Amino acid sequence: MSKFIIITGGVVSSLGKGISGASIGKLLQLHGLKVNMIKCDPYINVDPGTMSPYQHGEVFVTVDGAEADLDLGHYERFLDVEMTKGNTNTAGSIYQTVIEKERRGEYLGATVQVIPHITNEIKKRFCAFEKDFDVSIIEIGGTVGDIESLPFLEAARQLIQEKGPQNVINVHVTLIPYIAVAQELKTKPSQHSVNKLRELGIQPSMLICRTEKPLAAKLKDKLSLFCSVPAQNVIECADAKSIYEVPRNFYKQHVDERVIELLGLKPKHKVDEKWFSFFDKALSPSKTVKIAIAGKYSELQDAYKSVNEALRHAGMNNDAKVQIVYINTEKDDVVAKLKEVDGVLIPGGFGVRGIEGKIETIRYARENKLPFLGICVGMQCAVIEAARHLCGLAKANSTEFDPKTPDPVVDLTPQQKNVVYKGGTMRLGNYTADLEKGSLARKLYGKDQIVERHRHRYELNPDYVKQLRDVGLKVTGWHEGVLPEIVEREDHPYFIAGQFHPEFGSRPQRPHPLFDGLVKASLKKKEGK
Ligand code: GLN
Repeated sequence: MSKFIIITGGVVSSLGKGISGASIGKLLQLHGLKVNMIKCDPYINVDPGTMSPYQHGEVFVTVDGAEADLDLGHYERFLDVEMTKGNTNTAGSIYQTVIEKERRGEYLGATVQVIPHITNEIKKRFCAFEKDFDVSIIEIGGTVGDIESLPFLEAARQLIQEKGPQNVINVHVTLIPYIAVAQELKTKPSQHSVNKLRELGIQPSMLICRTEKPLAAKLKDKLSLFCSVPAQNVIECADAKSIYEVPRNFYKQHVDERVIELLGLKPKHKVDEKWFSFFDKALSPSKTVKIAIAGKYSELQDAYKSVNEALRHAGMNNDAKVQIVYINTEKDDVVAKLKEVDGVLIPGGFGVRGIEGKIETIRYARENKLPFLGICVGMQCAVIEAARHLCGLAKANSTEFDPKTPDPVVDLTPQQKNVVYKGGTMRLGNYTADLEKGSLARKLYGKDQIVERHRHRYELNPDYVKQLRDVGLKVTGWHEGVLPEIVEREDHPYFIAGQFHPEFGSRPQRPHPLFDGLVKASLKKKEGK
């Protein structure tokens, strides 16, 4: 039977609950324990798939096709596991299940209520991996005190009550703000948020304190006294140079030992500290390389979280710091910006805004032999670019951007044309691709078949594959021989694009081959300058 750690957040959002939870999970995993992580988001959307990145940051995609919160990406990268549909829950999906049950008559006779029906469904989701793991870490999104998160906190309280505090603990991630004029760290907001938790019947066992300055023993004692948390369980979580430092910072403060003691866990072996030192080299790389991310959300780094991480992983593998230059393809002078970089990546995207700038970016990369990696819409734009500028189809487009284009080089499949509901109906999750012999793709991956995650509605129109090949843009990856998955150019040092999202599969210790290839080619380009 699994033990449970409920992660909550206090004072403000964006405290890095996901990274704190994943760091605790990593430490327990380094003790040989089997750890799973579950995210609960209190909003009413059934999943974040229909939300703008401005609302939500990146939408993470699981192998089985769930559109999920970006924290699942942290979980995958820290724990080196693959998340599934059961790892992501929203208030919307929970209400949907309960309402569907009600319509089927499963509660016949009863008034369906938040307690117990919604809370029972939440507890069921909390316990989804109970049988197969030693520890389930459950992160409740939002901030304690929000109306939306109340049913989740009530379900957590019930779980503690039912299973006992020796089996379920709450770790509260909170902010200790620094008041510059007074030159003081303040504990009051954290005291209030713990009081709020206690009003709801939850007593935290540990406080993770986000702070810009070291948390003196005096302050830990104060938090301990006011919040009824032993001082040794008041943990300083200072801003780190790299998120991968956080597990070691926790380890130094014995977070793992405290959690093991609180839950009576039985570690399988001692911590292998090699995992920590792996990241040391990454902090002082000997080379730097500038890679542009050319997209629509240049001012919002969370929108491309997994892409950023994948670039960083590839950098670590090549002893290079990747300096990311954001290009806003809607507003910036893309050519001027591209002149300053050693490589360029076009990430996934939806809608027509910024598309012409992406096409211009690809034209520049093709003509100037600038290493280029296209992801999803990045591949679609590479196809439009070649069709317009090399095949002479001046009005070629995707029907997503111009429904009346005479040359729909990117189009919906007949199946997608019938889709009415927008939520959860894209081509989602893992699909295979067979790679052509002698292709760059085959060389990079080192195998003839790959599996990658997808999240898109539109596809390269197979009717144009021959024309594109004639101008040097070759399809070198196919899904079951019918859907184009990868395009590349032979007359270029590194020009490759995929219909899928390679960024989700990248790991710190195992950079994704397409990103690794981009960094290697960009370093070469830089050295050749
Ligand atoms: N908008 C494109 C489609 O739906 C590409 C999506 C993406 O880049 N993830 O096909």
